[in-house]
Amino acid sequence: VSSVQLTQAVIDQTTAVEARVQAFNSINPEDALAQAKASDARRAAGETLGPLDGIPVALKDVIAVKDQPLTASSKMLENFVSPYDATVTEKLKAAGAVLWGRANLDEFAMGSSTENSAFKATRNPYNLECVPGGSSGGSAAALAAGEAIATLGSDTGGSIRQPAALCNVVGLKPTYGLISRYGLAAFASSLDQIGPFTRTVEDAAMMLQVLAGHDRRDSTSFKTDIPNYRAALTEKQGPWKLGIPKEYFGEGLDPEVGAAIEKAIAFYRERGCEITEVSLPHTEYCLSVYYIIATAEASSNLARYDGIRYTHRSAEAKDVVDLYYKSRAEGFGPEVKRRIILGTYVLSSGYYDAYYLRAQKVRTLIRQDFLKAYESVDAILTPTSPTPAFKAGEKAANPLAMYLSDIYTIGVNLAGLPGISIPAGFSSAGLPIGLQLIGQPYREADLLAVAHAYD
Ligand code: GLN
Repeated sequence: VSSVQLTQAVIDQTTAVEARVQAFNSINPEDALAQAKASDARRAAGETLGPLDGIPVALKDVIAVKDQPLTASSKMLENFVSPYDATVTEKLKAAGAVLWGRANLDEFAMGSSTENSAFKATRNPYNLECVPGGSSGGSAAALAAGEAIATLGSDTGGSIRQPAALCNVVGLKPTYGLISRYGLAAFASSLDQIGPFTRTVEDAAMMLQVLAGHDRRDSTSFKTDIPNYRAALTEKQGPWKLGIPKEYFGEGLDPEVGAAIEKAIAFYRERGCEITEVSLPHTEYCLSVYYIIATAEASSNLARYDGIRYTHRSAEAKDVVDLYYKSRAEGFGPEVKRRIILGTYVLSSGYYDAYYLRAQKVRTLIRQDFLKAYESVDAILTPTSPTPAFKAGEKAANPLAMYLSDIYTIGVNLAGLPGISIPAGFSSAGLPIGLQLIGQPYREADLLAVAHAYD
């Protein structure tokens, strides 16, 4: 097919389902078709094509695209248009991708259901009464509903892997530092990573190939050789040593999710993999450590939304201090305010040592748990989410219940490791279940190969 045909098919599907799924904050069909035409013209002229030439890709609405809106699903940025491209955007453009659609999210990526968006609540294409997960719920749902061929999300504590699991797609969070964060609206800078949503692990390998690499505009970007990820899928055949962390199979795990994971374990065992139990003893502290560090960093990152520069500006303000107050009071939603208040509290003098500093120390112990496990195993296998998709509204009023959705994913961010969620079957109610595989730092080629075996 030509890119115009493919892009038109994606536009037609979006026209058919978007009123129900609500995955996008904005779309621009004319612009996408113009990019597709340009790709077809390159092909007709016999030019060398990029690895994603003519493929419609949608971006989470926190990733900058020059001259396009970037809202972070917040009233604060409702009218903001980005003056520049994120590094990943530049790379997608250079690879020939057709940039299409701005996917909805929980405001500033804070949440696990995409219900915290200031604009709309995205629904799960597998059951419209359920959430798609979050915070990259729009990216996951758009892909699952056929409204894109691949999408990008960001993952601070599970925001790619959990919605991937709930929407039956592949979601990859690479090692911290592998993909540049330049042009990503920051939530918690020491945890944020951009990554792809795709239908298959092979597609994830192709997307990662385009996105990975050092960038001098992101000081935490890592210099490392980028292997051929797609070739690794067939070159690396195992058998692998897989670790099952005993702390991840206790209270709160839905029995049907547990059964699906057992099935995956049996598959790998039959394939000759050695399966051993491992221990990540500091797992019980992950949630507390995450909500101290993530909120601390968020409170600092979100200080830039001051009502003066590119943000919402209150019309009611009497003076400059009042302008800060009112613009932020009007511009931020309740979850974002909750995070800012928590974050400023744990950073305030007198509490800094008790909370923030201690959390940083425990974070190191959490990372050491994983590195110790990797002395005896190649990868770690867990559920992605403790339950399949939950009903919209079910956890909206209970932040703690919502935070527990990330219990299996946040340790990976705290440790800076790569993690992938792949489809692993369905519950009796027909809702998708995800399998998480956790890899060693910068060893995405191995992680993708393990995931590909079960895909
Ligand atoms: N759900 C988690 C939170 O609300 C993780 C979000 C994310 O990964 N961006 O912070």
